[in-house]
Amino acid sequence: MFLWRARLRNRDGRAPGQTRRAALSTVVCVTALLAGCATQQFLRVEERTLDARLRFFLGGGGNSLLLTHGRDAFLIDTKFMGAAKSLRHRVEEELVRDVRRVMLTHSHFDHADGLDRYRALGPVLVHEATRKRLEAQGVRADWVEVGGPIELRLGDEVVRIWHPGRGHTDGDLVAYLSRRKLLVTGDLVTELNEPVIDVKAGGDVLAFRHTVESLLALDFVTALPGHGAPVGRETLVRTRDYLARIELEVIAAQARGFSEDEVVAEVRLVGAPSLEPVPFGANREKTVRLMDRALRARAQGVTR
Ligand SMILES: [Zn+2]
Repeated sequence: MFLWRARLRNRDGRAPGQTRRAALSTVVCVTALLAGCATQQFLRVEERTLDARLRFFLGGGGNSLLLTHGRDAFLIDTKFMGAAKSLRHRVEEELVRDVRRVMLTHSHFDHADGLDRYRALGPVLVHEATRKRLEAQGVRADWVEVGGPIELRLGDEVVRIWHPGRGHTDGDLVAYLSRRKLLVTGDLVTELNEPVIDVKAGGDVLAFRHTVESLLALDFVTALPGHGAPVGRETLVRTRDYLARIELEVIAAQARGFSEDEVVAEVRLVGAPSLEPVPFGANREKTVRLMDRALRARAQGVTR
């Protein structure tokens, strides 16, 4: 049984199951092809059972979390392609659970493609920006828009869900399972990779570290990132400090009158963590360029 502690706003009104993937193939997540990772490996799903009620499904696109209460289940992110298919089969056919609620951390294909596969799919929790982006791709669902915090109860489990601010996109949602001190971050955090700022989807390099900083205020021990293995608080600290370091060095280079290319050459980040690039998505140079442009725009009073 699910209980909601917030005023919920359903959009669309279509019955569950009427979602469609349609043009989602054009929205392949920029984090979809991890550095040095063969496609086969990227599609591989590793299931980790935490206890009788909580499982992680790592890989196969974005990481997923399944929390159950009796036969009902709450699922965070639905993966993509064959991995989405195998996740649905595992949850519905083998574990014999009905997915009554889904939360999408954001709109990227590798996290959201499998949405229409579930037979008993109920409301889908998304940020308004994610809902609009998915609808523009032809996806339909019984949307529940989430901005400020709402709480979802499954028996004695309480899941707090909210939009912590811009970062990876402008529609990221996170979830916090207080009893377990567990945070689910979507692509605001990855285990090993350069932070991905999807500017076309509203990502914001300047806001990113403040959004991550707000998550560090929570009393969590473990975070399930968007990609990679579960991490501790130090990974969020690393992300925050890395972006702060880039911002500082870019500001210093700009103060010397450097052009963007000169800023890129000047920002050395000596001693900064070595993060894996994301092909077609993110690398250190791209982050520096995004920071340079964002700071120049801010200096000129351009707001987004
Ligand atoms: Zn993403």
